[in-house]
Amino acid sequence: MSKNYIVGFPRIGEQRELKKALESFWSGKTEFSEVEKVAGELKARHWNYQKDAGVDFIASNDFSLYDNMLDTAIMLGAIPKRFRDLDGKEQYFAMARGDKDRVAMEMTKWFNTNYHYIVPELSLTDVYGLNATKLINEYKEAKELGIKTKINIIGPLTFLGLSKRVDRGDTYELFGKILPIYEELLTQIAQLDDDITVQIDEPIFVKDNQTATLSLIKPTYEKLANVSENIKIVVTTYFEHSNEATKVLLHTPSWGLGLDFLYGEDNKESLELISNSDKVLIAGVVDGRNIWKNNIQNTVNLLEEISAVVSKDNIIVGSSCSLLHVPFTLKYEEKMDSELKNWLSYAVEKLDEVVLVSKIFAGDTLSSSEEQLLADNKDANNSRATSSKIHNSDVQNRVESIEKIERDGAFEDRIKTQRDILGYEDLATTTIGSFPQTPEVRKSRRDFKKGELSKEQYEKDMKDYIDDCIAFQEDCGIEVLVHGEPERNDMVEYFGEQLDGYGFSQNGWVQSYGSRCVKPPFIYGDISRPNPMTVDWITYAQSKTDRIMKGMLTGPVTILNWSFVRDDKPRDEVSKQIAVALSDEINDLQEAGIKIIQVDEAAFKEGYPLREAKIKYYESWSVRDFKIAVSTSWEKTQIHTHMCYSEFNDIIRTIEAMDADVISIETARSGNELLKIFKEVGYKQEVGPGVYDIHSPRIPSVEEIVTQIKHLLEVLPKEQLWINPDCGLKTRKWEEVKPSLKNMVEAVKLVREEM
Ligand code: GLN
Ligand code: ZN
Repeated sequence: MSKNYIVGFPRIGEQRELKKALESFWSGKTEFSEVEKVAGELKARHWNYQKDAGVDFIASNDFSLYDNMLDTAIMLGAIPKRFRDLDGKEQYFAMARGDKDRVAMEMTKWFNTNYHYIVPELSLTDVYGLNATKLINEYKEAKELGIKTKINIIGPLTFLGLSKRVDRGDTYELFGKILPIYEELLTQIAQLDDDITVQIDEPIFVKDNQTATLSLIKPTYEKLANVSENIKIVVTTYFEHSNEATKVLLHTPSWGLGLDFLYGEDNKESLELISNSDKVLIAGVVDGRNIWKNNIQNTVNLLEEISAVVSKDNIIVGSSCSLLHVPFTLKYEEKMDSELKNWLSYAVEKLDEVVLVSKIFAGDTLSSSEEQLLADNKDANNSRATSSKIHNSDVQNRVESIEKIERDGAFEDRIKTQRDILGYEDLATTTIGSFPQTPEVRKSRRDFKKGELSKEQYEKDMKDYIDDCIAFQEDCGIEVLVHGEPERNDMVEYFGEQLDGYGFSQNGWVQSYGSRCVKPPFIYGDISRPNPMTVDWITYAQSKTDRIMKGMLTGPVTILNWSFVRDDKPRDEVSKQIAVALSDEINDLQEAGIKIIQVDEAAFKEGYPLREAKIKYYESWSVRDFKIAVSTSWEKTQIHTHMCYSEFNDIIRTIEAMDADVISIETARSGNELLKIFKEVGYKQEVGPGVYDIHSPRIPSVEEIVTQIKHLLEVLPKEQLWINPDCGLKTRKWEEVKPSLKNMVEAVKLVREEM
């Protein structure tokens, strides 16, 4: 008999119902009871999807009104001081989003995904205590619908590992306070039924150098697994292998182990050990992070490989991770090309895949609809393997034959030529690219897309906006100008739409944090650039000013990291194709008279692998591809890049190797602390550390910016510094941007006079 398992299901709703309900409640338009009603309907619908598909292990407590880490903090009573005078939903949402008196808790990326969790704040003096209401209610809700769920919880070691201490110090020092609450939790869970599976997520185990974590595994799971005979514990990891932890877990009385065999292929090294234990293996073999239809035959082969070592009876077939990271259902993709659509599989479709794979693997007889599904799956995979939409030999040949990776001229020579031609002063002022995306600009773009606005009118609207941007920047005294990016809805989508090989979904929303969702485009085929993508806009802008207009592109690694990427080619090859397309764009821009070109790599750091062993390889191709993209630039063309980070300590050499002439970075919130690394390593190229934080509506004063510039000058010489905001200004309002930039220019003036 086959058995199958889903690690977790998305919750925002197939029509983003939860997002809408939350935002309506937050804006005061509806009561909280409406949110609760929608949440109840969504949970029921999601459980039923899984039940109808024939899933054996369906999760409860994978739902959340905002975030599971936040839920866990609440469950453990880990409420930061500033929220303790609140309770209930007021407290919950204030922790998530802040309110007029309280700053929100910090939010950060969940491992190497684009999901963001709330970072719990712990302190040695805090008193913690169990509040299991949400978890218990959710279990009961499902049970009333006739669905017996496994209960998902975030494990104590991952919870501690991802939290921060407000009183400084190691979060693991709180182990002794937190573990008893988990024991109490399991005691309560044990009273719910006489046979309950609890999935304890411990993705922290997939990281390197976890000596402290590893030493706590045994005490933790010995305790937890012994709380009650009613409970079967499955410890689950994903996104990478967790071989070090597996070794220890096998010697604890837990029941099962959930491992990711797609992103953690090295988990195979543990199979021998697992086979010698009594553990059940939940084998994550259906991709929970990508949108491609599973290749059923290949997946069954992978399972056969696993079961050559571990007894088939001890294997349960599962998703590689929670399906939270993929969109809901293909049902609403009405406009998508049918051939493309036939290659895809979202969360709901993946349920059928998991079930089908588990049946074939177990040798169950298939129903006629399952036979059909299998046949369709073969067809889809065959069509994808051969489709001319995907395979373009011209692109492949050109990309393979690329030999020029280095730019012309060494930086030391380039920068002299550039400074001669461009003639900018020390502490030159610029911005990162975008200016406020006003409701009018958005509307114009939207109407044009829908065909409700003529091309002429659309272009006029954009050009008017560009004119205004230029007038403001000239008036304000900024030295290197930008056109403001009004034509771009998103820095990846804009390029994706103009590249061959890129697909777009109508409803492929994935939760990024809270109520916020993103709709990543997907790369299905060989990438090429049929036409210039930015040249008309930038040359128009340059024609309207005597100052230097900076061309603006998104870099290959960021385009890749913010898209779903084809799984039939290695990422580094896909990235190289994008780089080659961008290198043509850069050449066209400089031929058209553009003297500075910025290639944004906002997501460069996001793509870093979780395991050190893989970092070298990532760096090798990501740096190569940035360099290929700018390899066409002449010596005199100045290449800028921008990254939305400040933590460069580990990767400063890699950044330097990208060989951009100028890099702008996000430092406003860290003073000059994080800049020191640039000095320490003798970083050569020019640097534009953000002098004010664009994430806040606050207008920085002249004095404040002067102080910030002086701090920067303590670390780097004026010849090496540019002055700019932290990031693009598109999320801000003009009323905020105008005075802020005026103050920035004024501050530079004062500092220059003083020098
Ligand atoms: N050029 C882009 C902008 O200004 C960069 C955005 C980013 O780094 N996230 O909006
Ligand atoms: Zn940025």
